[in-house]
Amino acid sequence: MHILHISAECYPIAKVGGLADVVGALPKYQNRIGNAAAVMMPYYKTAYVQKATTTVDFCHTLVMHKKTYLSEVLKVQDTSLGYSLYLVRIQGLTDRKEVYGYEDDAMRFMAFQRVALQWVLQQKEFPDVVHCHDHHTGLVPFMMSRCEDFDLLKMIPTVLSIHNAQYQGQFSHELGWMLPRFRESDLGLLDWSGMINPLAAAIKCAWRVNTVSPSYMEELKQKANGLEWLLNHEKNKCVGILNGIDAETWDPNSDSYLIKKYSIRNRVSGRKANKEALCKEFELDASKPLFGFIGRLVWEKGADILPEIIDNALQQYDINIILLGSGSKEVEGQLEALKSKYKGSYNAYIGYEERMSHQVYAGADFLLMPSRVEPCGLNQMYSLRYGCMPIVRSTGGLKDTVIDLGEDGFGICHNETTVEDVVYSIGRAVTHFKDQKGFKEIQKTMMQLDHSWENSAKMYVSLYKQLKS
Ligand code: ADP
Repeated sequence: MHILHISAECYPIAKVGGLADVVGALPKYQNRIGNAAAVMMPYYKTAYVQKATTTVDFCHTLVMHKKTYLSEVLKVQDTSLGYSLYLVRIQGLTDRKEVYGYEDDAMRFMAFQRVALQWVLQQKEFPDVVHCHDHHTGLVPFMMSRCEDFDLLKMIPTVLSIHNAQYQGQFSHELGWMLPRFRESDLGLLDWSGMINPLAAAIKCAWRVNTVSPSYMEELKQKANGLEWLLNHEKNKCVGILNGIDAETWDPNSDSYLIKKYSIRNRVSGRKANKEALCKEFELDASKPLFGFIGRLVWEKGADILPEIIDNALQQYDINIILLGSGSKEVEGQLEALKSKYKGSYNAYIGYEERMSHQVYAGADFLLMPSRVEPCGLNQMYSLRYGCMPIVRSTGGLKDTVIDLGEDGFGICHNETTVEDVVYSIGRAVTHFKDQKGFKEIQKTMMQLDHSWENSAKMYVSLYKQLKS
C-alpha cells in the first residue's frame, strides 16, 4: 500500500516529544512488511534539515487572503531513514528554528496542510491512505472531503491518530479565511464550542480515528478536554492501537550513546558501568538505588509535584534521584533549588539532551512516571527494554504496558498522581531493590518483553485495508 503520513514532528528530523518517535518509526516498519510509506512534514531549521541533501520535488504559490506565499516540497535523500521524506518549506512560515510556540502557529500549520495536499494532487499515483497525526494536521480530512480544490482526493481514506487530545489547535472563526473555499453548510464540521477546532474536525471527518493505546481511548470517552461527547458519538470508527518502540534505535546492545553496551546476558555488568558513569557525571553515589525522571515538565506528566516527591523521598529513604527535563519555569526553578539542599543525592539537567536520556534508561534502577495523562508513553517502554524498572501511575498507555510486581509483573503501579502514592511506591522499590537476586531476575523479564513496532505496524495496515475494501 502507498501510505502518506502527514505530521508536524518526525525523529530524527525534528522532535519535541513522543509524536516524533512514532512518526519516525511506524513508516519504517510498515515498509518492512511490504508497503511504500512516506512522511511529509514542515521544513524547520533544525540541525538535521540544515545538513540534509534535498531535491526540489514541487513548487507552489499559496494564496491565503490575497497574500501569496512561495512554497516548495523538498525530497530528502537519506536511505537510512527507511521511508521517503518530504519537507514542506513555506517562506516566512515554516522555515523557523522551533517546531511550535509561535503566535502564528495556526497559520503555519494551515499553510503546511494546504501545500501538502497540493503536492498530493499533482502525484501521478495517489496514496492509498493519508494518515494524519494530532491537531496540526487535523484539517486534512476536512479539506480532502469538503473543499472543492481537493475534490480529486475525496475517495482517499483518511486516518487520524490522536497522540494527545489535550491540545486541539482551536482558533477563531474570524481566521476561517485561512482555509480553502468550502460550502457554508459544512461549517459545523469545523466547529466545536464556537471555535474552529482542528482536532474535533478530524474526529468528525477522518474515516477512522485511533488513539495510541486502548486505555487512552476509553479514558477520552470520559474526559477529553471537551471532546468526550464527540468521541462517544463517533465511537464506531474509533480504536486504540498501542505504539511500539523503534527497537533498533532503542537497543542497549547497539546504543552508541551508552558508556557500555549490553544485552540480556551481560545486563548486570553493563548496567553497572552505565550507572557508575552517570553517577560520576552527576556526582551521585552508585551504591544507592537510583531513581530517574525524564520528560516534559508539565502538569500532564505530574511535574508540579516532583519537587515535593524528591524532598519527601530523600528525607525518608537512602536513595539517589536524577532528573532530565524542561518545561514549566516555576517547576524548573524549584528543581534547580533542590540541588544544593540534596547535593550528592539528587541532581538535574534542565533541558533537552538525547544522549543523557539513553544514559538514564541504562543507568537508573527505577524510572518515575507519575503522569496524570499518558496517551501511550514511550519512556516506560524504553525503560523496560533497558532493564530499568518503571514506577507508573496506572493511566492510559502506562496501564496497558506495565504490570505491578504484586500481580506477577515487572513494575510498580499506583493509582493517583499524588506525593503520597509516589513516595509509597518509591518505598516499595527500595524494599524490592534489597533483594538483588530477585531484582536482577525481573530485569531479565523486563528486557525480554516485546514492544517493537512489528505488531502495531501490522494493525495499522489492516485498519487501512478495511477502508479500501
Ligand atoms: P510526550 O510525547 O508526552 O512528551 P512520550 O513518553 O510519548 O511523552 O515521549 C517522550 C520522548 O521524549 C521520549 O523519547 C523521551 O526519552 C524524550 N524526552 C522527553 N524529555 C526529554 C529530555 N529533556 N531530554 C531528552 N529526551 C527527552
